[in-house]
Amino acid sequence: MQPSTLRAAALIALVAIAGPATARAAEGPNVVLIYCDDLGYGDLGCYGSKTCPTPNLDRMAAEGVRFTDFYVSSPVCSASRSALLTGAYHERVGIRGALGPKDRKGLNHSETTLAELLRARGYATGMAGKWHLGHRPSQLPIHHGFDEYLGLPYSNDMWPHHPDSPKSFPPLPLIECDRVLIADVTPEVQSGLTAAFADRAVEFIRRNQARPFFFYLAPDMPHVPLFASPAFEGRTGHGRYADVIAEIDASVGKVLATLKELGLDDKTLVIFSSDNGPWLSYGDHAGSAGPLREGKGTCFEGGIRVPMIARWPGQIPAGSTRHEPAATIDILPTVAALAHAPLPDRPIDGRDIGPLLRGDPHAQPPHDALFFYYGDGQLQALRSGRWKLHFPHTARTMIGQPTGHGGRPGKYKPLPVGLELYDLEADIGETRNLAADHPDVVRKLEAKADAMRAQLGDSLKHQAGNAVRPAGVAQE
Ligand code: MG
Repeated sequence: MQPSTLRAAALIALVAIAGPATARAAEGPNVVLIYCDDLGYGDLGCYGSKTCPTPNLDRMAAEGVRFTDFYVSSPVCSASRSALLTGAYHERVGIRGALGPKDRKGLNHSETTLAELLRARGYATGMAGKWHLGHRPSQLPIHHGFDEYLGLPYSNDMWPHHPDSPKSFPPLPLIECDRVLIADVTPEVQSGLTAAFADRAVEFIRRNQARPFFFYLAPDMPHVPLFASPAFEGRTGHGRYADVIAEIDASVGKVLATLKELGLDDKTLVIFSSDNGPWLSYGDHAGSAGPLREGKGTCFEGGIRVPMIARWPGQIPAGSTRHEPAATIDILPTVAALAHAPLPDRPIDGRDIGPLLRGDPHAQPPHDALFFYYGDGQLQALRSGRWKLHFPHTARTMIGQPTGHGGRPGKYKPLPVGLELYDLEADIGETRNLAADHPDVVRKLEAKADAMRAQLGDSLKHQAGNAVRPAGVAQE
């Protein structure tokens, strides 16, 4: 199916969708949340990229706020997305790693998602793109608070064209709400998805312009395999990865132009971020972590620190920059406060960062510490203020390894990590281990880690937590 045919099919399917008509609730902003897949800290012009042209995102930053120290909960897809939508660490809501087509797990229906929270306030809620929180019909976005959905249920490389394990995966479906729109996504279809998802966002905004709305745009790019539409192939002269980023940037431009055209600029908070750092084993098909160490699948900064830009003219000071450590878990409580919505009826870990967004001079750093779990419940690292402490574990690296090329990955080698303390303000690249020089700091951070271990456990210490909630399991 050609990209144009794909867009036509998706638009025809829309005819069947009708959200509940609800009057505008107590004024909160519209929210557009754009969450990319595997986009690195160094992949945007406004974060230092010299190869990826991102004029729309650069303008969005110039008109809003850019966070320099913004974190995901986990350096991998499903776990990261569960935290984004629940405001809780992924370890708390029981979603680890990246779910695949054989999994029965998904986000538990007892969790309250950002979409559910806003729908209860009268918002129209829609999503396009990668879900990755359970692909069985009852686990899809329309059963977690979204009125409508178009997208891939899991990663775009979990398909029969996988470069290493083509026999491991069934055909990749494209889903509309909870039914299959295209049963076997082809490379041609993939090349049209970035535009199709952006078009859906634009169409949704137009259709819901008279009421409050929340749209979650989750491009499946720049996760490998990389696809750009014919209009963007070769456009940048810097290779396919840069072409893909240019098309994502154009998607952002479409959304921003639509908001402006409809007179919704001042009523809409737009947030842009990424689910984890670059997948470095893919070499020329991977992004860049910029000055940060390592990438996806590690708790070094390159895996967990991501770009974050927020724009809301009249509320967020134009061209501002924040350096306080904040995280995707903060988005739910922040938006909840703006929409006058009650928080979920269970513990979450995020904080309202509205004061940071608004440039309040009295704004305090929202977190005493941020905790980074990875693997089978390992508390691998934490950040508190300027300090980052890694606990002994095994990470992975491509340093010294033959790199991937043309969509085929290289092979990581294990990287032993000891008790390592870094001063991120002086050493953003985590190069000088100061643990021996600052035993007092190590002790303080260890105490913070122990408090979190009591809640969420730590398999590095064979410790169980008392506050871990189970993932959902499909019954069908
Ligand atoms: Mg990802």
